[in-house]
Amino acid sequence: MMKLTFIGSGCWQGIPAPFGDDEISKKVEWGSKDFRFRTSLHVETENAKSIILEATPDIRLQSWKFKLKKPDAIIISHWHWDHLFGLLDLDWFVSKNPLVVYGNSVTKDWYDKRMGHIKVDFQVFKSYKSFQIDNIKITPLEVNHVDKTDGFLLEDMNTGKKMAYLSDLHGIPERTNQLIKNSDLVITDATYLASYINDDPTHLQKDQIVPFLEKLSANEIILTNIGSYQGMTHDDFEKKFSQYTIAYDGMERQSS
Ligand SMILES: [Zn+2]
Repeated sequence: MMKLTFIGSGCWQGIPAPFGDDEISKKVEWGSKDFRFRTSLHVETENAKSIILEATPDIRLQSWKFKLKKPDAIIISHWHWDHLFGLLDLDWFVSKNPLVVYGNSVTKDWYDKRMGHIKVDFQVFKSYKSFQIDNIKITPLEVNHVDKTDGFLLEDMNTGKKMAYLSDLHGIPERTNQLIKNSDLVITDATYLASYINDDPTHLQKDQIVPFLEKLSANEIILTNIGSYQGMTHDDFEKKFSQYTIAYDGMERQSS
């Protein structure tokens, strides 16, 4: 069994945006599908181990809203603050509770320089070198975003189900493409699904996203990292991109 819960589905600033005066931020209500913490995923294993993908700046409220127990591991894809800097909020928690954090070597450098006083057990992984937590085999996957970013292939060793999590990207190397082929589920980046920002080459842009998705072979594709600057509600996204699933906070999937 592998139970996934989206505990965040928003872009780097979440929805509502800080002091947001855009149409989506002005109308959004707590608990609606348009209210989005920063993207992260909770994974519950066969023996109820608790894994969190990404330490977002919303981790305190995410843990409360979704009634998460103390995590057995936090796994971080890259050093951007919306994925890593939630660890700063765990200072007091970590002083009372051991915490294992997995990340790549560049993420470890950022952790050491900016929050090394928070004494976690930091395990450095390498791309394509798998490790296992309970029944879940986790393989970090190189993705093209910033130096250096990993997605993750999660495989339920009891059921054989495969889920790929590729949150921030502007493309993937062929080796990653081969490994995620025929996944049951791929979760990927919709930061600029409906709008284009010329000066940000680190994510796929509007006209590049659908061609990228069409090349993936997965039973289900879930789009995450949604921002209010796109000017569309969750319902708008569902109507316009009906061939894909649009993530929302609290959405669940289970392999069993
Ligand atoms: Zn990023």
